[in-house]
Amino acid sequence: MNDIRETDYIQRFLFEEHAVRGQWIALSNSLKELVAGHEYPAPVKKQLFKSALATNLLAETLKFEGRLTLQAQSGGDLKILLIQANHEHEFRGVARHNDIVPESEDIKTLMPGAQMALTIEPEGGRRYQGIVPMHKPSLAENIEDYFAQSEQLATRIWLFCGEDKAAGLLLQAMPEENDESGFEHLSQLANTLSQDEALSLDSNTVLHRLFHQDPLRLFEPKTINYRCGCSRQKSLNSLLLVPIAELEEIIEKEGKVSMNCEFCQTHYEFDAIDVEQVFANSGRDMQSDTTQ
Ligand SMILES: [Zn+2]
Repeated sequence: MNDIRETDYIQRFLFEEHAVRGQWIALSNSLKELVAGHEYPAPVKKQLFKSALATNLLAETLKFEGRLTLQAQSGGDLKILLIQANHEHEFRGVARHNDIVPESEDIKTLMPGAQMALTIEPEGGRRYQGIVPMHKPSLAENIEDYFAQSEQLATRIWLFCGEDKAAGLLLQAMPEENDESGFEHLSQLANTLSQDEALSLDSNTVLHRLFHQDPLRLFEPKTINYRCGCSRQKSLNSLLLVPIAELEEIIEKEGKVSMNCEFCQTHYEFDAIDVEQVFANSGRDMQSDTTQ
């Protein structure tokens, strides 16, 4: 494994003698990039890290080309957790919260009455969204519930979070076979993993430590990268959604239109000519827009 994979990677594996598959994930550098430019309180940061682990684990189970979005939303102090991951093992995310957030790891305290939506956007395919209420205290348990209800696939997830790194494990029954006792046996073994071990050991060591009596087939680890994917051009195009009169008013007052990417905090500025050009290229007539 190269240096990057040692810090930010996902590794799939299969049990040779059970109809169960799994994935191990470890993140650190990408998490630093995820929170750069944001001032997240510690409990928010922790839930965001766990969401990043979970979303990357889920994207890897789907085996599709496109984007998976996990969004949890509530009226509580932690308002929104949002992570997007794609099949190229890139992800980005953002959280919204009140200034003061309780020192808690309990989702029901941080996000009372929350709902979680999982949205799958296959490239060139139809968008699919599943929404479930978050009745359980941890993100992992709520995702397990989601799989039990919507996919009817036995799934267990363990998420571990330190100051600047995080690691996670997923076990999932194979859809075509029913090996309940095997799944239960492997889940019991995985339950013995401690936070210290999860955060300090590499995947081979962890998997050997847990499952040395159950032969495993390991797949090549894949590097995971933080990547926002925003650009000056995409931000400029998004101005097309704003009435032109409103943009002209802003430019008259401020001399420019300023935008901050809500994910990576990159700052974009556009002047009157930029705005005029993007509207001209879109085929919309500025003159007729302003008089409407
Ligand atoms: Zn961005």
